[in-house]
This record gives sequence, structure tokens and C-alpha cells, in this order.
Amino acid sequence: MTGEFELIDRITRGLVARDDVVLSVGDDAAVLALSGHAVVTTDVLIENVHFKRQWSPARAVGRKAVAVNVSDVEAMGARPSAVVVALAFPKDLDQAWVEEFEAGAREECDRAGVSLVGGDLSSSAVIAVCVTAIGDLGGRAAVTRSGALPGDLVAVCGRLGWAAAGLAVLQRGFGSPKDMVAEQQTPTVPYGQGVVASRAGATAMLDVSDGLLADLGHIADSSGVVIDLDTGLFAVPDGVARVAAATGKPGIGFVLAGGEDHALAAAFPAGTDLPEGWVRVGEVKAGDPAVLVDGHAFDGSRGWDHFA
Ligand SMILES: [Mg+2]
Repeated sequence: MTGEFELIDRITRGLVARDDVVLSVGDDAAVLALSGHAVVTTDVLIENVHFKRQWSPARAVGRKAVAVNVSDVEAMGARPSAVVVALAFPKDLDQAWVEEFEAGAREECDRAGVSLVGGDLSSSAVIAVCVTAIGDLGGRAAVTRSGALPGDLVAVCGRLGWAAAGLAVLQRGFGSPKDMVAEQQTPTVPYGQGVVASRAGATAMLDVSDGLLADLGHIADSSGVVIDLDTGLFAVPDGVARVAAATGKPGIGFVLAGGEDHALAAAFPAGTDLPEGWVRVGEVKAGDPAVLVDGHAFDGSRGWDHFA
């Protein structure tokens, strides 16, 4: 098995460390020079729990592990700074899998503009990946889930429904539409938009991992407000519409309830001139915490059926 430094050295090769990295791989720990409060988050991906090798190529697993963590940093309104990557895998795992994983992690760090500053390596019964991401608030306050106020508008940035459509395709044993499947394997995180939203005055924000309705429920609960979505403001992407038609489910169901896309959802003060890429989809109202769709209560347990 390769050594820790060899792995991390290979992942970091070709990556330019940002100028906030004072000390990178090679010592007991990395040193970062941040200009504000630090945001820290971590996620674990376990084979057959979070991904299946036959559905997700190693490169996609490497990319996704970095992407979902940086997405959480973005969701706090912070500038992603650095990540550390830990990988455990069976001793008989094909070396090519590890190399492709490394390439994927490297590619996503590049896309996200973060430095990979450390990691660890071990053997285990199944593949396990743990990534920790650190972000810099740069003097701004974090954008939490609890700041939404009645009268705020609700907006989203990024893709919605693509990953769920991709999962539906894979579960049926198909491989296309390819862009939907690719989104299932690796989300297209709207990098940089967390800071943009914070600067635009976002009062509450999160990234959509479990589905827009479920995740906005967290903002409703934390802020003590009602969030009312207007389905007329959502566009159902062509690929999602095609998968919806093929599976006999409503396209808007994928958009509102599908998870794993890692779009950003946020509340902004009424009248905010939304930054480019952000789309208004509803508003915040006073009342007992709830998420409404076109003014009607959404019963999460009914899932897709609600839209049938
Ligand atoms: Mg999150």
C-alpha cells in the first residue's frame, strides 16, 4: 500500500496551493492564514451506503467527496479555502481505482478553487472516504439557517432534480440521459455563489442535499417561518422532463423533492436585486414553521404522489 504522503502528493500534484496556505502537506498539520472566522465541515462516503462502484466510477467518487463538503462551506457564505482527504480501501482493490479517485479529487479541488493540504490512508473492508473542508468568512457573519424573516424572498442557484432523475435512470438499468446520470455521480456545485449570496444580503442559506422541500423545512424550522414556493417560478429542465415522462412521475416532483444536486437555497430581504444565476422561487411568510407549495401544505411522507 502506498504511503500517506505519496497519496496526498499525487493528489496535490499540479494543484496550485492558494496563497492562504502557509504550510501544506509534509508536516504534522497544515497551517492556513484566514482573514475571518473559519467554517469547518466534514462528510463520510461509504461504499454501498453512499455510492456503488458499478454506478459511480472512481473519478466521480473522488470529485463528489470534495464537492459535497465544499458545498457546505459555500452554504455558510464562506470562501472555500482548503480540504483534507482520508481514504480507506480493501488491500486487493485495483490500483487504477485509487489513481482515478485521486484524479477526481484533484479535478474537483481545481474546480472549487481549494487547496488540498493533507490526508490519511488506511486499509478497510469496503472503500471509505472522509473529506473535511475549511472556509474563510473573511470578516462577514456566517449565513445560518435561522435568519429568514417574513417578507423575505426565497431563491435558488444551481441545478435541481438532475441527480434524482439520474438515480431513476440508473435504478432502471439505463445510462442516459447522460447529463442526468453524471449529475447523480457528481453534483455541479455553484462554486463561489455562497459568498455572492452573503454579499447580496442573504438572511438564511443552505445547500440542497435532501431535496428542496425537505431542506427548506430546516430553514422554516430554524427561522420559525413559513416558506411558500410558487411552482410557476420553476423551470423543469428538458432531461428531467424526459426522465419524468419515462417513469410516469411529474417533473416538478424531481425538482422539488429530488436530492443530491447541491444547489444553494437562500432567503433575501424583499426587493433584493438578486445576483446573476439566482432565481426567485417563493417567499417567506409568518406562521407556524412549514413549507407550502402554491399555498398548500406539503406532506413529505407522500413524496412524489403529492404531485401526481
Ligand atoms: Mg448542507
